[in-house]
Amino acid sequence: MISYSKIRVQIDLNAIRHNYRLLCRAGTQVIPVIKSDAYGHGLCQVAQSLAGEGADTFAVGYVHEGVQLRESGCQGRIISLLGPVDAGDYGALREADIIPFIGHAATLETLAATGDSPIDIALKFDTGMSRLGFREEQLPDLVEFLRSHPHIRPVMLSSHLAAADDPRSNALTDSQYETFSRILSGLREAGFSPESNLANSAAILGHEKCLCDYQRGGLALYGANPFCGTAWEHLGRDLQPAMDVTAPVLSVHPLEKGQGISYGHTFVADRDMLVAVVGVGYADCYSRGLSNEGWMNFKGCRVPIVGRVCMQMTCVDISGLEAQDLTVRVGDAIHLLGGPGAGRISPEDLAEWWGSITYEVLCLLGMNQRSFIES
Ligand SMILES: *Cc1c(COP(=O)(O)O)cnc(C)c1O
Repeated sequence: MISYSKIRVQIDLNAIRHNYRLLCRAGTQVIPVIKSDAYGHGLCQVAQSLAGEGADTFAVGYVHEGVQLRESGCQGRIISLLGPVDAGDYGALREADIIPFIGHAATLETLAATGDSPIDIALKFDTGMSRLGFREEQLPDLVEFLRSHPHIRPVMLSSHLAAADDPRSNALTDSQYETFSRILSGLREAGFSPESNLANSAAILGHEKCLCDYQRGGLALYGANPFCGTAWEHLGRDLQPAMDVTAPVLSVHPLEKGQGISYGHTFVADRDMLVAVVGVGYADCYSRGLSNEGWMNFKGCRVPIVGRVCMQMTCVDISGLEAQDLTVRVGDAIHLLGGPGAGRISPEDLAEWWGSITYEVLCLLGMNQRSFIES
């Protein structure tokens, strides 16, 4: 968490609850994916809020994030998507009652050697992401191992979709689904009855056949549309962004025609202008890639960034505001994300100017000081 910035991040837990209900309506039961501090929205706050909506299982990243969640009082099931990595993680699994994703034989062997008491695990299969997970051809060996180690209980079967958010890649999603179904049948034939979960946010909204006992929803919970910019954009239409970010105005001054501004003078005024210096920069997780590209929202009006984003300052052109009867004063808050009116900045808008994706924008801005609203 960044302590040196003046950025204020407000998280609307009501919006996250709304999005959760929406995802549950589309599918069946949703496991909130709250890894990486709930994509910048607050691990424990989001979990607690969604427990109030009936969520009974939560997915974190590393095991120690699960421990943190358990220590906050979470009583639901906790899955660690990244599984145990070091010795401390293996010990913590039983102590904090965390279900790890296991996708490698070596991890399984290490886990089996940590004790004889029963432990629940989620079997993670690689069906096309080519990242973590057992491969289909390893199933016979895996079944043999599980039969000879009955204290290792495969209560879940999982896999992750590589391109469910791109309708042009539906053939890949279909093939991952087919592979997943074959693995599930194989495990059932071998006498195991794991609960299954495959779908991410995009699949919950757009790939009905991928819906299993549970789904793992992340991005859409936070109100970003996984289908933004695709032919299926309408499927995420009713999601509500939950993060609102402001920074203070540090200075307001004229910029005369011909004057350059900020490092490198990459912007030179082509007319007499009025600019505001805003207290936010790349050290506050506001990307330098927004230099001369991004916009901010002052009381409903969009104002463009002029010149380079600096370490803790960014300049915007506020010349157009006078015509709107708006005056910017030192100390005023200006929105980097969200904000009122027609100038509202969506996570998708910001990600596009940033040259990135909504996931990154939310994770990074969420590292600043946060407050929460919930009614
Ligand atoms: C992050 C993650 C998800 C959630 O994906 P979204 O696109 O944010 O819904 C689901 N499953 C796994 C394994 C993940 O790592």
